[in-house]
Amino acid sequence: MDRRTFLAGVVATAIAAGCSGGDDSGPEGSPTGDAAAADLPASLFALGVASGDPLPDSVILWTRLVAEPLTDGGGMPNAPVPVSWEVATDEDFDDVVADGATSAEPALAHSVHVDAGDLEPDTEYWYRFTVGDLTSPVGRTRTAPPAGADVERLRFAFASCQDRQDGLWTAHEHLAAEDLDLVFFLGDYIYEDDPSSDAVRPGRTPEPVDLVGYRLRHGEYRSDPLLQAAHARFPWVCTPDDHEVDNNYAGLNEELPQDGGSGSDPEAFRQRRAAAYQAYYEHLPLRIDQPSGGDARIYRDLAWGSLARFYVLDTRQYRSDQACARPSDIGAPCPEVDDPARTMLGEEQEAWLGDSLEGSDATWNVLAQQVVMTRLALVPGTDDLFNLDQWDGYPASRQRVIDRLRGVSNPVVITGDIHLSGLGVVTQDDTDPSTEPVATELVGTSISSSFPAAFVDAIGAIATASPAIHYVEARYRGYVVVEVTPDELRADYRYVSTTAGPQAEVSTGASWRVRAGNPVPEGV
Ligand code: FE
Ligand code: CA
Repeated sequence: MDRRTFLAGVVATAIAAGCSGGDDSGPEGSPTGDAAAADLPASLFALGVASGDPLPDSVILWTRLVAEPLTDGGGMPNAPVPVSWEVATDEDFDDVVADGATSAEPALAHSVHVDAGDLEPDTEYWYRFTVGDLTSPVGRTRTAPPAGADVERLRFAFASCQDRQDGLWTAHEHLAAEDLDLVFFLGDYIYEDDPSSDAVRPGRTPEPVDLVGYRLRHGEYRSDPLLQAAHARFPWVCTPDDHEVDNNYAGLNEELPQDGGSGSDPEAFRQRRAAAYQAYYEHLPLRIDQPSGGDARIYRDLAWGSLARFYVLDTRQYRSDQACARPSDIGAPCPEVDDPARTMLGEEQEAWLGDSLEGSDATWNVLAQQVVMTRLALVPGTDDLFNLDQWDGYPASRQRVIDRLRGVSNPVVITGDIHLSGLGVVTQDDTDPSTEPVATELVGTSISSSFPAAFVDAIGAIATASPAIHYVEARYRGYVVVEVTPDELRADYRYVSTTAGPQAEVSTGASWRVRAGNPVPEGV
């Protein structure tokens, strides 16, 4: 089966599942036993399948049994549902190499996370789930190469920021047709905003504040067949940013106060954050423990033989509040910004990152994270204006990370958040771009979240005036494809022609190369 045929099949299955609707009679499961297969709705694979976080011998397989994703309870019985799964070396499942059974629990919205083990390293697999007579769409995945193995090539894409209201996911349709080993999603997988009637795709669920609300929002997003196709095609590695919970939240501080006052109730926000983290966990193929008590250990690493090691960061849960109590994240820095006690990663994650980097023998060491690390003065040549939600608002914390990156083999940073494409160089002293270059930072544009047209030229001019910034392009939506070999890392910035309609072309808007041993990128 070629990629196009596979994609067509996944989309057709997803559309069929999404359109067939649930059984209006609303099957009631016994609260003490498993739901009977005969009582289950036929469209319970409405959100498709996914895989993620591959190891050399295992990969996480995901699905969520739900017939009506926009309904509280999902049109499912309030009872566990037995689910079986299979992994095969072929898409027809003639050669099944692993299988098993699990239970989809109502407490986890009938989501399933299977750690499918005893697999061969560096191998492509196909997987599916079965409930009674119902079989899920088929997904394709792969395992990582053996630990420490020489690997000639890795191809991954990274993406972020898919505000469903802002546009169609034409980027996911093209992403699914790429030749990739892995996809990284660096945050803003959902947006929590209220529905807007003048949106490209007006939302159908209210701003979520509790578990039911976040489940509905994820269900709304995940019902999209193009997003399902991209999940079904590759293993994903995901980490959230702010909008999975609340715009610009920091630790237990909710959205930046609009009035400049404090206004946050940390304990109330902890409840909301707990609901958001749980729903995020329920909807993605994450190799993490189930969140509890409002906390989730999301940061983790992933190795691709000796070629690359990825450090998947969490820059929201442990960070200090944004400094200077402004009504916006853009502002003039106040003395609080430079307080060395302020942190972006929190003490534990920072120590974990330092230890992990120090112990790494990978050729390439990639921080997969959310917010821009390269210093970006919004009035070039001055210290007058910064986006203080980015690492620019946490300079002491950034300096500690830079100090740990120095001496590490080929550090690279991949970033989302700002809905534009960019390329920068993080230097030894981030206030002085003439100091030793330490790491290339690749910033990927959004899948669909808009960038204000009125600022496109301004951000281009700012970048041109900043010696540490080599490339900025704010007009296009898309993703970045990265090919890594022992000698170089090549980034192709892939742009779709539109997100306003269903038919889009994809093209490469820019290509950059980083040679091993030199963190300063060159245009290709
Ligand atoms: Fe975003
Ligand atoms: Ca964000």
